[in-house]
Amino acid sequence: MCGRSLGEGIRLQVDHKVPREWGGPTVDENLWALCSECNQGKRNFFASITDERVQQAMLHPSVHIRLGELLKAFGNGRVPKAYLQIVAFTHDDFEKRLRELREIGWRYRVEKRRESGRVRTFFVLEHWEPWPANPAAAIREGERAKKRRDKR
Ligand SMILES: [Zn+2]
Repeated sequence: MCGRSLGEGIRLQVDHKVPREWGGPTVDENLWALCSECNQGKRNFFASITDERVQQAMLHPSVHIRLGELLKAFGNGRVPKAYLQIVAFTHDDFEKRLRELREIGWRYRVEKRRESGRVRTFFVLEHWEPWPANPAAAIREGERAKKRRDKR
């Protein structure tokens, strides 16, 4: 996470991307190597997240389903941006992944609110559709169809 390399006297630790306490399995896809400092920082960060809706949403292997299920778990409520960043985990651009949900009929709005001097961003679900068998494939197909329409 910090980008330092092994030559710099770093000790690597095997870490569960989705923490074990959250139900993250011990399988290759959920394991990576972090330096001990990054690992401790990540552990503290996850320990600070106590909302079970976030933990539940984390368990889906598809990033689109993780984001969508988190929005659904809040009903019409405001979902803090940080929560979506967490469930997008390992996908840097969670807002792009979120926009892609529009390709399969989902609608949401973004709200900015000033809270104790800081502007905070929230996402509010307006409409959702049942998941296709393969959300990523359905999204790609939707994007291709849109490009064909734009060309005409
Ligand atoms: Zn590190």
